[in-house]
Amino acid sequence: MDVIVIGGGIVGVATAYQLRAAGHRVCVVERYATVAQGATYGNGGTILPTPLDVWFGPTFMHSRQGAKSGVIRKSGFNSAVRGFERQLAALQEPEAFSRQYGLLRPLIESSRDAMTDIESRLGLEFEQSQGVLYLTRTAQEWAQTQPALELLRQFEVPHHVFTAAECAAFEHSVPTDPDFAGGVLFDQERTANCPLFTKLIKQTLDTQGGVTFMLNREVAAIRLDGQRAAVELAPRLGEVTSTREVDVINADAIVVAAGVGSLPLLERLGMRVPLHPLRLHTLSAPIAHEECTPHVAVVDAVKRITVTRMNHRLRIAGGAVLQPANQTDKVLPEAVTKDALALLGQATHDWIPGAAKISAALSWDGVKLLSPDGLPLVGNAVHPRLFVNVGLGPAGWGLACGAAKLVADLVSGVTPDLPEDTLAALRPERFRG
Ligand SMILES: Cc1cc2nc3c(=O)[nH]c(=O)nc-3n(C[C@H](O)[C@H](O)[C@H](O)COP(=O)(O)OP(=O)(O)OC[C@H]3O[C@@H](n4cnc5c(N)ncnc54)[C@H](O)[C@@H]3O)c2cc1C
Repeated sequence: MDVIVIGGGIVGVATAYQLRAAGHRVCVVERYATVAQGATYGNGGTILPTPLDVWFGPTFMHSRQGAKSGVIRKSGFNSAVRGFERQLAALQEPEAFSRQYGLLRPLIESSRDAMTDIESRLGLEFEQSQGVLYLTRTAQEWAQTQPALELLRQFEVPHHVFTAAECAAFEHSVPTDPDFAGGVLFDQERTANCPLFTKLIKQTLDTQGGVTFMLNREVAAIRLDGQRAAVELAPRLGEVTSTREVDVINADAIVVAAGVGSLPLLERLGMRVPLHPLRLHTLSAPIAHEECTPHVAVVDAVKRITVTRMNHRLRIAGGAVLQPANQTDKVLPEAVTKDALALLGQATHDWIPGAAKISAALSWDGVKLLSPDGLPLVGNAVHPRLFVNVGLGPAGWGLACGAAKLVADLVSGVTPDLPEDTLAALRPERFRG
């Protein structure tokens, strides 16, 4: 089949890879000059989400913690944002959290298999490094992480629960003064460079053939009729066209994997999805003192701030800002950006003092979609020829590979190797009542 994938982030590129592997001819349409320029560009580096990474559950955005939750709220009196927060708050209840994570777990496992398969076939080097240490400050935060630890035991995820002293003994760059509650080490989980991985997959696809990358082109609309599907391309920058001269590409199937750009495309098809944009920040900081630099990635478990070594720099990611959806394409007020970056700087200073030269760091911010039930939207929607792969959340890299395999199976008419309840929980149209 001829399949168009809209979006050249990790999700679109991984989807193109799996579609080609399933024998389809693929065209990826990306509005920037190359791939990995959206949320993928700022990726913090953790590959597969553990129960401590998912952006829902007892430790996520607890209202009583305010700014200490690591999420800056700029919602004002916007009722849509308030509604979204209420839905996420319901998942703070340990039973609801466990149920939802249980539904996601098969996708995580399938993503792990898909990543292993890609790596064994292609032998890619994308700055992989092993070991992630999650740290928790207070006794109250430690108590909140217990349902996640229970899930780690239940799903037999290899991990070590450490006291503060054990954390410091394992990772000498973490100080024990002031005291903190403890940590969890995943010695088998990995971090790496997501934009590099995405570009290497594209490079492989360029060499192998079967996938065309149409860069610098934006999809303006999707057309669906009984027999065929097509995308309408927006005029190139500076191009003058009459409305009759619109570029249209036909296909047997279309996959929407355009990150935050998916929302207007789906809305024009009458599909309103309650995904909420969340703005995240990164700092890329030169290493200040090599002896203070951690040998594993360090994560502030409650604030969800990740510090990962990438070559000679530390990438510090997090500093989420929740704002009304209609303001997402506006530049954040300077003071808000400052607060978000201060969260990143402070977490780095607290957990690994002396490691990063924050004053010389380069900052970046990007938008990621979060769903109110914490799960992505992956599957068929609206029309038999339309597929959606969006909302993978701020822990979306690893999931992208499994979600891509699921979409490729569905496009190919193959029964996916995931439980029925997981497939239903991921269904893009589940919010339609
Ligand atoms: C700061 C930050 C840190 C993060 N850290 C982590 C982490 O440590 N681990 C993790 O797993 N995840 C992390 N994430 C999340 C992860 O990076 C995302 O889930 C993932 O990159 C989403 O990929 P995507 O392809 O859906 O979106 P994007 O990367 O945004 O790609 C979408 C692409 O679609 C293109 N596009 C949009 N509309 C159109 C259109 N109409 N026509 C043509 N092209 C279009 C865009 O230009 C863009 O390139 C982080 C995200 C951010 C922002």
